[in-house]
Amino acid sequence: MPPLHRFPQRDEAEGLLPVLLCLGGHDPSGGAGLVADVQTATALGVHPLSVVTALTVQDSRDAALVRAVPAPLVAAALRRLDADIPARAVKVGLLASPALARTFCRWWRARRPSLPVVLDPVLRASGGRRLWSVAGDPVAALRDCLPSVTLLTPNHEELVALTPEVAGDEEEEARARRLCALGAGAVLVTGGDRPTPAVESTLYDAGGRRGHWASPRLPGSFHGSGCTLAAAVASFLALGYDLRGAVDEAQRFTAAALAAARPLGRGAAIPWRGGPWR
Ligand code: PLP
Repeated sequence: MPPLHRFPQRDEAEGLLPVLLCLGGHDPSGGAGLVADVQTATALGVHPLSVVTALTVQDSRDAALVRAVPAPLVAAALRRLDADIPARAVKVGLLASPALARTFCRWWRARRPSLPVVLDPVLRASGGRRLWSVAGDPVAALRDCLPSVTLLTPNHEELVALTPEVAGDEEEEARARRLCALGAGAVLVTGGDRPTPAVESTLYDAGGRRGHWASPRLPGSFHGSGCTLAAAVASFLALGYDLRGAVDEAQRFTAAALAAARPLGRGAAIPWRGGPWR
């Protein structure tokens, strides 16, 4: 594995940097979305490809408007990149419309079914605004994508929304296992949105609980913490880490980015992903 946090050396075998394909929305505040993905991948020595799925009008407090990019445009961008720059992993953030979710899954199935995919099932901004277009059901669209997903990274609210058939508020493991039964390889439930003293995240696969992380809850709120974590896991997968190792390192990177976050606007603090992080 290449050393981290210095300019990476050319990969002797291929003459290439590891490449991460990122699909997601653009958040002009630079807290979340594709900017978070691109900053994270770059900080970790991975080259990001960035396919925009939605434009948002947004600041550090909340989103005000979302416009999904037409699916044929995203399909064309995927085809074009795929024919030119091979990626080693994919990070999917906001898909914004059922047509975009279908476009991604079709491309993945037809073109690159062996590529690891980290999908952050974004439904709304932490300020509360729904980020999907009003037409179509995001839950059904995201569930249809699960067979293409190596790791799903819902927060608790997203986990509950994605598994309406599981009863009970506390059935985290049952909900995660249900998502694995629908096709996800593994589910990392992140606990930033829960009122616990520490931020706790748990990794599940079809067999049950596979890992648990707890980090001190920092004061204040953050815009883009979930995007940072999912992009870091995907970057470490692109670097050749196994899933557990990738989650482990991504937790450390995200904790450092949040500890260095700045209150740049009037809302949540914006993570600093420029390093150094260890
Ligand atoms: N905007 C975009 C484009 C996103 O992709 C996301 C999260 O992934 C958000 C906003 C929400 O970020 P947060 O929940 O940190 O406010």
